[in-house]
Parts: sequence; C-alpha cells; structure tokens
Amino acid sequence: MQDQSTEGQTMMFCHGCAKPLHVSAVACPACGAPQRRSAAAREDESEKSKVTAGVLALLLGGLGIHKFYTGAWGWGIVYVVLCWTYIPSIVALVEGIRYLVLSKDEFARKAAAMKGPFAWLW
Ligand SMILES: [Zn+2]
Repeated sequence: MQDQSTEGQTMMFCHGCAKPLHVSAVACPACGAPQRRSAAAREDESEKSKVTAGVLALLLGGLGIHKFYTGAWGWGIVYVVLCWTYIPSIVALVEGIRYLVLSKDEFARKAAAMKGPFAWLW
C-alpha cells in the first residue's frame, strides 16, 4: 500500500479493493474491508523508539549503544574508544534522560533529521 504522494499523508488505498481512502478511515466505504494499518501506524513501526534509545543510553550508554541504535555509529565508535574514561557514560546518562523527556513526536522528528554518522540527537 502506497500513499498518494500528491496528497501528502492524507490518502491511502484500500487493502481490499484498492480504492483511495482517507488515512483515518477505519473501514473502506466501498467494500467494507477493515483498515487496521493507517499510514501513521506504519510510520510508528519504522520510527526509532525514544524509550528504547533512552533505556539503551541509560544502561549501555557508556558503550555508545544508543548511538548505534539511532544511526550515529561514528559517535558510537567514539564512545567505545573512550569508554574507559567514563565520560561517555556520563554524557549518555544525560542523553538518556533527554531522550525520555522529549515528546515522541519531537524525538521522531529529530531522529529523522539526523544525517551521517556524527549527527547529534538532542
Ligand atoms: Zn475497499
């Protein structure tokens, strides 16, 4: 199922009869097929979870696991190299709290805006 690009995220196609539907439709008016998976739900599944990132930062942040998770593997390597200094652990603790404090939407927006291995999600 693809969204109509010209309609932004507002339209999708019926799972049953492939007629265009609004993403908020719970069932197809034409054939009655239930539309369980909205575009928003699909986006949620592909998004990085702020809770996962936050918990990884708090528990394994000293090894930069949350950096690898969010795609900033460059920072991940830096964290691993410097883990013996405990500095990454302290930074990750703050980052983990920050991730958890951010709203889900804010975190998703920031995660989506990250580019390259040294992007900094804050
Ligand atoms: Zn239909």
